Amino acid sequence: MADLSKYRSEIGSWLEANCPSDLLGLSMTAIEGPWGGKKWVPDYDSQRAWLERCADKGLTAPTWPTEYGGGGLDKAEAKVLSQEMRRLRVPPPLIGFGLTMIGPTLLQFGTEEQKREHLPRITRGEIRWCQGYSEPGAGSDLAALQTRAVDDGDAFVISGTKVWTSYADKADWIFALVRTDPDAKKQEGITFILIDMDDPGVSVSPILLISGSSPFCETHFEDVRVPKSNVIAQINGGWTVAKALLGHERSMIAETFGTGAGQRRQTMADRAKGYVGADAEGRLADPALRERLAQLELDTRAFSLTVQRSTDAAKAGHNPGPESSIFKMYGTELNQRRQELLVSMLGPNALGWEGPGFEEAELSVTRDWLRSRGNTIEGGTSEVQRNIVAKRVLGLPD
Ligand SMILES: Cc1cc2nc3c(=O)[nH]c(=O)nc-3n(C[C@H](O)[C@H](O)[C@H](O)COP(=O)(O)OP(=O)(O)OC[C@H]3O[C@@H](n4cnc5c(N)ncnc54)[C@H](O)[C@@H]3O)c2cc1C
Repeated sequence: MADLSKYRSEIGSWLEANCPSDLLGLSMTAIEGPWGGKKWVPDYDSQRAWLERCADKGLTAPTWPTEYGGGGLDKAEAKVLSQEMRRLRVPPPLIGFGLTMIGPTLLQFGTEEQKREHLPRITRGEIRWCQGYSEPGAGSDLAALQTRAVDDGDAFVISGTKVWTSYADKADWIFALVRTDPDAKKQEGITFILIDMDDPGVSVSPILLISGSSPFCETHFEDVRVPKSNVIAQINGGWTVAKALLGHERSMIAETFGTGAGQRRQTMADRAKGYVGADAEGRLADPALRERLAQLELDTRAFSLTVQRSTDAAKAGHNPGPESSIFKMYGTELNQRRQELLVSMLGPNALGWEGPGFEEAELSVTRDWLRSRGNTIEGGTSEVQRNIVAKRVLGLPD
């Protein structure tokens, strides 16, 4: 305990001394997000300095081993670090699929050489990753994937198309599932492989969405030669790796969206008062809205504490199990309730698109609301999560 309070005071002073003042208090909705990578253009110049300082101290991946660029913190220290970052309103130095998905998967399944090649570059934000799982004919039924990898000596030659690849146009590397044995049972002929997006034969075409942004791409592979040394775990053994990564992805989606961590600093109740007004006692004037808000706050608080418990367990080295499906399903549906409620609070002000008459904060409500529709699809739909919970948590028959 004494050591922990020493760590708290040390890390608190370090954060205060090192976080650039113009970044303090910025929420994830105020900045696009420090995704890193060769194509990253920060919204604030100081973000690069902040990233470098944190990476030097191992704080971008606090619990990863120091030899791979992590901070080597134990579970209790990592918790203190997040508490101090929240208290001082310090934004994360780095986010992205490298830290939340492929990094933990490499720690579990990668060879020593693969870990040394990729993990330090992830922790320094040098490489941005994207995920090549879904295909036009393989979403919920992921094992039906058809992207072919043909054996050619020390390499595979890969051909096919992935779809809904988030930020493929901004990524440097992709972790992908490919079919290496077309004759095996469908889960047994799949390999998990890492591909450099600059390799000849890789191309991307962005897809425009209802929210007005274009975060997805189709990713095409045309005879792309990828060394076999980029295979993670066994050839034809990719399904196990794929499922483990999905556990990390679902936990990350649940935490990002469900806990409202990226929401603005102003509370929902304060925002509501600005539109609906307050009664004589300073409470939100509309009792029905007040009740919905109170219930949402209660559910968010309970969910955040449960997720925190599970995150602590993950940091202590327990990889997420099928319970990540419960969090993913509940957290994303909770976020959709949150966004619906914001739209109800703002009324017509929440239905702007662009131009004068709407504040920036109002326009982001519209866009966040539209974006939240995808929450119950990405990382596996809610129906698929319910099937997993039925089979693997409750043990119900097929
Ligand atoms: C915001 C967002 C980001 C994404 N990012 C990525 C990414 O970076 N990389 C990537 O590879 N993919 C990504 N995806 C794709 C995502 O993983 C798929 O959309 C998802 O798995 C569903 O597949 P599908 O779209 O083919 O729908 P389908 O599988 O065709 O499903 C259609 C409908 O049928 C239902 N359904 C299907 N099978 C069953 C079943 N067995 N039981 C009950 N209902 C069923 C589904 O629930 C759904 O309602 C992203 C998707 C979104 C929305």
